[in-house]
Amino acid sequence: MNISLNAQILGSAMLGLTIGLALSHLPADSGAKISSLYACGLIGGVFVDLLKMVLIPLVFLSIAAGVANLSAHEHMHRIWRVTLIFFLFTTAVAVTEGLLVSNWFRPGAGLDVALFRDAMGHYQGQQLTLGEFGGKFLHSLFMNPVAAMAQGEVLATVIFALLVGIALVVLRDAAAKLVILMNEALSVVMLLVDWIMKLAPIGIMALLIKLAATQDAALLAALSKFVVVVLGSILFHGIVVLPLLLYLITGVTPLAFWRGARQALITAFATSSSSATLPVTLGCTQNQFKVDKSIAGFVVPLGATVNMDGTALYEAAAALFVANLVGAELNLGQQLVVFFTAMLAAIGAPGIPSAGMVTMVMVLQSVGLPAEAIAILLPIDRFLDAFRTMVNVQGDMIGSLVVQRLIKR
Ligand code: ASP
Repeated sequence: MNISLNAQILGSAMLGLTIGLALSHLPADSGAKISSLYACGLIGGVFVDLLKMVLIPLVFLSIAAGVANLSAHEHMHRIWRVTLIFFLFTTAVAVTEGLLVSNWFRPGAGLDVALFRDAMGHYQGQQLTLGEFGGKFLHSLFMNPVAAMAQGEVLATVIFALLVGIALVVLRDAAAKLVILMNEALSVVMLLVDWIMKLAPIGIMALLIKLAATQDAALLAALSKFVVVVLGSILFHGIVVLPLLLYLITGVTPLAFWRGARQALITAFATSSSSATLPVTLGCTQNQFKVDKSIAGFVVPLGATVNMDGTALYEAAAALFVANLVGAELNLGQQLVVFFTAMLAAIGAPGIPSAGMVTMVMVLQSVGLPAEAIAILLPIDRFLDAFRTMVNVQGDMIGSLVVQRLIKR
């Protein structure tokens, strides 16, 4: 029987979650649990390593060749504009949802902060002011490309590739052979991605077994109101808001979107990393949704590092949660500050696991909330990160479909 890769991935994800939940009931010192988790960590880790192996060549080639393949400059300007407007708009909508829902349900209010005093006491609060963050972000845009690639810095690689692509367009015939070479190299890397994806069912199963087996159920229960509010609003954004936008602009139905996108969505859930998922996201966007290579090659890698609706929503909701927890009332002006810093924090967060927690320090500090409060959320972050990464990746795919549609109009 020939089961499609999509079905294999979905099946293995469910199996992974089930086995993981079963394992979570075993005592922490059980030999079977320890060795299974060790094996899963190893297998899942190798799968993520393989994705990261192709990430940088893929980002560079797909953007540089993608831009070079665009025939006219004018075209490029419109793609830029529409992409950035779409990313900013959906991120702003996500933050607004996070703020509204948190104001409504007030998670954290009434919880005894003393419960968490121990965790907060051990947390080494690092300073990250708005100014420092802005400076760091600006510096991370332009780097020596070799260093950026070697260190896996996606954003700096994206910027360098964009500039190379524009130069190739300007040079036209004088660099025609290089463009052909890059397109051929890109086909080679995409074939590697196809091969790696053959291992996805086992890699994803291993990652999900570990994820489900290592959750702190007691802490999740203690923070259940916050978890439900955050997950509810992230899922609302991913299941209602983004698909509705997609449908209204492009006519693609939510079911058709899910069918084409599920490999990337499940990979994002399992890896908690938009960057590691990027090869899969690009594959789905180009192969399943038939988005033009030049558009997908630009929108998806850029989106993987700057467009994070799930993260933005989470940062806003978490800031209000901490405010409620310590009994601080944030007025409208302060909530506006949270709105903007949460957007910036999401744009600046790299697409790696728990990146949002690092940039959240800035959101908390912007309104004078204690950064140590992050210690409360860290133990449950891997779980929440899975959901926000899935919505982050979804936003990139929807972005490329929307941009393609609006450009063609
Ligand atoms: N893990 C997320 C991503 O890669 C970022 C975050 O919210 O921590 O998209």
